[in-house]
Amino acid sequence: MAMDYTADDFDGDAHVSPDAALRRLREGNRIYVEALDHERDLSPERIQDLFENGQRPFATVIACSDSRVVPEHIFMTGLGELFVVRVAGNVVGPVEAASAIYACKHLHTSLLLVLGHTHCGAIKAALDGEAGDVASVTGRIAEAIGAASDPYEASVLNTRAAIAELRAHPALAQLEEVGALRMAGAIYHTHCGVVDFLQMP
Ligand SMILES: [Zn+2]
Repeated sequence: MAMDYTADDFDGDAHVSPDAALRRLREGNRIYVEALDHERDLSPERIQDLFENGQRPFATVIACSDSRVVPEHIFMTGLGELFVVRVAGNVVGPVEAASAIYACKHLHTSLLLVLGHTHCGAIKAALDGEAGDVASVTGRIAEAIGAASDPYEASVLNTRAAIAELRAHPALAQLEEVGALRMAGAIYHTHCGVVDFLQMP
């Protein structure tokens, strides 16, 4: 496997395989669904460790800004474990793609997950044909969902479109090609907390 880690930015924890990263997310979500709270190490020592040794997130997650869709909680992770990009409707434009490229290429996260969700206000706005002030989000969603009218189907199509958008970037496509990166999609069920991972082609 051709990977070019340098002494400076390589870090042990980040070197998990895509399979291992996916297992960690699945297991974290399983715990989250039954959890009553989320106790993580927020100690000054942990903050200092991450400052001195650098961050080593094991996955990158692009999720909606919806206050109910909090990847660090949904996957029961703590400081330094997930590199998260949040934007209304989990749409991917140039800024979101560049953020993902940074994490995958320079922080070496081996899994890039686009996390859509049910009952998404941005999807609803797109289905309702709203534009105006929010057009830069709803326009992208409208393009992704085409003629779909079912909100769940629209969430899935929007998530898949975001992955296709990411894949169009050579930096990410190359990492995927050599096996250093896997891109995945999932839908968070807002009513119960369960994450469904989508079958990827
Ligand atoms: Zn949303």
